[in-house]
Amino acid sequence: MDMFPFDTMWFRLLAGLLIGLILGSFTTMLSYRVPRRISIVQPPSQCPQCHTPLKPRDLVPVLSWLIERGQCRHCRATISPRYLVIELVTTAAVVVAFLALGFCPTLIPALIGIVALVTLVTINIERQKDL
Ligand SMILES: [Zn+2]
Repeated sequence: MDMFPFDTMWFRLLAGLLIGLILGSFTTMLSYRVPRRISIVQPPSQCPQCHTPLKPRDLVPVLSWLIERGQCRHCRATISPRYLVIELVTTAAVVVAFLALGFCPTLIPALIGIVALVTLVTINIERQKDL
């Protein structure tokens, strides 16, 4: 049944954490840009306040937000904890998917579903706040 020779629980956990953090970062970008009709390719990520382009060290999921305590490194504007929450929720869901499914073809649609679901729920919550 296993399609991947290293398919152990520890490997699933590590792979789930790594891919979950990457997809979590992607999900924060989607949930910010899609409702604002900003391209998801250009421009590169920037501070919403001072528009300074973010460097790779500012884009490490979860860690960057924690290290800078939710502030922009340049202008000290507050960066919403939504980024941290979205990254953590996405990572948790991806880890569960990896542990439950392992490395099988079903994993791909499951990951796409997680990203789509978290993005839509986030946009929905944000929209209701604006009403
Ligand atoms: Zn800034």
